[in-house]
Amino acid sequence: MDLSLPRGIRDIDPDEYDLHARIRTAFDELVRAYNFRSMEPAPLETLSVLRAKSGSQVDEQIYHFKDKGERDIGLRFDLTVGMTRYVAGKKELKPPIKLASYGGVWRYDEPQHARYRWFYQWDVEIFGDPTIDSDAEVMDLSYNLFKRVGLDEVILHVGDRRVVEEYIRKSVKVTSEERANEMMRALDKVGKKTEEELLREYEAKGVGRAEMKELLEFGRTTGPPDSVLASLGEAGLESATGLGELRDALRQRGVSNVQYNLSIVRGLDYYTAIVFEVKDGARPDLGSLCGGGRYDVLPKLFGRPELSATGAAGGVERIALSLGPQARPSASVYVAYTEPALLVNALEALARLRAEGVRSEVGPRGKSLRKQMEDASSTGFRWVLLVGRKELDSGNFLLKDLKDGTERPVPTKDFLSHVRPR
Ligand code: AMP
Repeated sequence: MDLSLPRGIRDIDPDEYDLHARIRTAFDELVRAYNFRSMEPAPLETLSVLRAKSGSQVDEQIYHFKDKGERDIGLRFDLTVGMTRYVAGKKELKPPIKLASYGGVWRYDEPQHARYRWFYQWDVEIFGDPTIDSDAEVMDLSYNLFKRVGLDEVILHVGDRRVVEEYIRKSVKVTSEERANEMMRALDKVGKKTEEELLREYEAKGVGRAEMKELLEFGRTTGPPDSVLASLGEAGLESATGLGELRDALRQRGVSNVQYNLSIVRGLDYYTAIVFEVKDGARPDLGSLCGGGRYDVLPKLFGRPELSATGAAGGVERIALSLGPQARPSASVYVAYTEPALLVNALEALARLRAEGVRSEVGPRGKSLRKQMEDASSTGFRWVLLVGRKELDSGNFLLKDLKDGTERPVPTKDFLSHVRPR
């Protein structure tokens, strides 16, 4: 029998699962602290809801099928669409509505490194607050999520579609909206394709080389917020005020590590103003760890034009890959004992460790101390708590650190405080 999985679908093994659990805990704690309520949108939607965002062209990128009642349905490809659909139907919710969600999503993407057809996303959205403060809040939360899981080096790359649109209209002098959209689509591919490839591809679509070149040059406006704002001011772009307000709002919240980058425009059918992506400079192979921005159009499509919306979503697997194997939890204790009569003391210590949620195991009955020690290191434990007659008589256990080989007596009464630090 063929036991292989469908293309792009994989199992999450226990080591990776541990990392996912840590990321989820950090996310749950953080969203509570930022006063978001958590919910999970349905995993299946009608195809028409999934198409709301990008029309039937989305069909190619998602899993959809007919159910047994001949209804067209599809698997969710993100959490944003379901959350927006949910909020749109709940007229009784008072804005601002701050919602968080976490769950698996399915996409018919081309599988490659860090790109799967089934993966987990965390997601935060604020509905009904059109001010820059909600954009800043979403970025603040995202930035702190990465810090909390141990990724201190991430950079927030921020753009604003309104500024790019104004530039195309005023400086490149393109008036057709369709043409302007086409040009922004090209801009979004900077970094994924070479300039020559883009010029050629879009020339075939009717965008002149000179126009495209000018826009690609403008897309190179990147750097710290102050310097980008200065050059936008020189270019006389009025819509840059949004990025100016955002700089101040982020500064007041202590969010540093921000770069402005006008080539970031993201999904065209979706976003309307400020957009951003988070990247780990040390791991360019992973692409973006998170992306977001303002998308006032979607609530309108779901019949709630008065509800503005801004949010962010990030891939859990990409955080796990970025953290790497060294991040696996190390507060783990193997309780060993020198003679069978001491198993009862060992079990007592084990119960205390487990009550504190520390991953712990006890040496199996009848195994020599040497075998227990081998067992502890071969199964990846950080500490061995050794229960021995001599130590017990003086009120201690012996705590061995398998990482550096050191050992020291710890009082049986409060041995837990000695193994707690990860
Ligand atoms: P998006 O919903 O396309 O804006 O994606 C948000 C985030 O989800 C990205 O920044 C990635 O971290 C992650 N992501 C998107 N597509 C995939 C994929 N196929 N596999 C794994 N992670 C993904």
